[in-house]
Amino acid sequence: PMKQRLLVVANRLPVSAVRKGEDSWSLEISAGGLVSALLGVKDVDARWIGWAGVNVPDEVGQRALTKALAEKRCIPVFLDEEIVHLYYNGYCNNMLWPLFHYIGLPQEDRLATTRSFQSQFDAYKRANQMFADVVNKHYQEGDVVWCHDYHLMFLPKCLKEHNSNMKVGWFLHTPFPSSEIHRTLPSRSDLLRSVLAADLVGFHTYDYARHFVSACTRILGLEGTPEGVEDQGRLTRVAAFPIGIDADRFKRALELPAVKEHIHELRNRFKGRKVMLGVDRLDMIKGIPQKILAFEKFLEENPIWRGKVVLLQIAVPTRTDVPEYQKLTSQVHEIVGRINGRFGTLTAVPIHHLIDVSCLLMNAISLQDRSLDFHALCALYAVTGDYVALVTSLRDGMNLVSYEFVACQGQTKGVLILSEFAGAAQSLGAGALLVNPWNITEVATSIEYALNMTPDEREKRHRHNYAHVTTHTAQDWAETFVRYCELNDTVVEAQL
Ligand code: UDP
Repeated sequence: PMKQRLLVVANRLPVSAVRKGEDSWSLEISAGGLVSALLGVKDVDARWIGWAGVNVPDEVGQRALTKALAEKRCIPVFLDEEIVHLYYNGYCNNMLWPLFHYIGLPQEDRLATTRSFQSQFDAYKRANQMFADVVNKHYQEGDVVWCHDYHLMFLPKCLKEHNSNMKVGWFLHTPFPSSEIHRTLPSRSDLLRSVLAADLVGFHTYDYARHFVSACTRILGLEGTPEGVEDQGRLTRVAAFPIGIDADRFKRALELPAVKEHIHELRNRFKGRKVMLGVDRLDMIKGIPQKILAFEKFLEENPIWRGKVVLLQIAVPTRTDVPEYQKLTSQVHEIVGRINGRFGTLTAVPIHHLIDVSCLLMNAISLQDRSLDFHALCALYAVTGDYVALVTSLRDGMNLVSYEFVACQGQTKGVLILSEFAGAAQSLGAGALLVNPWNITEVATSIEYALNMTPDEREKRHRHNYAHVTTHTAQDWAETFVRYCELNDTVVEAQL
């Protein structure tokens, strides 16, 4: 049989593009979760449609980039600077992202956002239509079109208006909030209706799916069924598809000489101390200040552990042009500085706050080198000792770092402390120590518990997590979603 053709539409293409000349580009594929997930899906012929992350105002540049991307099976959508500002920075990152993660903005910012709402929402719709135009141009009968994330909530409607036979799926990588939150959005109904134009709507957890269905029933007055949402004889299927990782990729990396060397270097560097690890983007949702305050409380209440434990917090800067993120950066620096001043000695500080994994390694030359990043990260996850990983997200769609940490625990069987507000808590709940990140006393107690855990309990908890992470892979996730999308059962039989 012919391979199923799949058009994967996401805001960003999985490449970074750097212009080398008037008509030449250098491209680097970023081997993110989604890419490796789809590479592993058999019998699917996937193409990517999205923005390349750069502004290309001239036609010569656009043509050259299109040609270079075609070799990587990528098709670009060209967005100009103004639309990126309003659609991406504005509506996506300043409006939908905080709202979907239950993050309140300060009062002044909220008023500013309220005022700029309409122009941003218009740009959002325009941008989504631009994605749709590219999809329509490349669509062939029988293709499955898989739309990704909160950037493209308008896309299913744009696509179906053009061709109602198109098979369209939409997957959200963030949480979907309670309908009480969603209904504060001025565009609440438009967004729901356009998502409902899809045949299949997917979320990481059952809770997010339920929130979406109740938003549709309460805000739009539609009927929720066990399969999804029904509107005048048409069913939109709604279901949970928890994403996974390519665990083998991590296991393979741990066998590489370079990674073994990194592990050796790290082990030497932190000899005699137990290592706790945090790996996050520097984002409000990750609860980094809360994590650091909990660690301080732990040191405060457990003097015998001072000098014997170190917290390595990798906080990768993102969205650095957004004021809220700048505030967060200085807040984190301030707290780390204070605690290091309080508990540090001449020879050792309790917290290492780093913007990049490779900062820890002496032989890490180029920060641009993504595979080095990946290898350093694997080493960090795997480095032996009585390892504890701390994930304290205030909200998180899934949180892949917790999965990756688990995949890299072989002999060590490190303990995972995991926020109950991360999607991953639904799947790793029995193996991890679940915490409420807002309760720093509870987190501090869990840190102590983790550091003192018996080998027996560690083994048991690790086994549970490891079994889950290695059997629920990214590939299974993508495969299941695409198969569901292909099903032809969205017309509900008329009830007699
Ligand atoms: N990551 C990375 N480089 C780093 C630190 C992290 O590529 O220096 C990756 C990490 O391996 C993981 C991803 O970034 O795959 C973070 O995913 P997660 O779901 O935990 O959080 P998100 O950043 O998507 O909110």
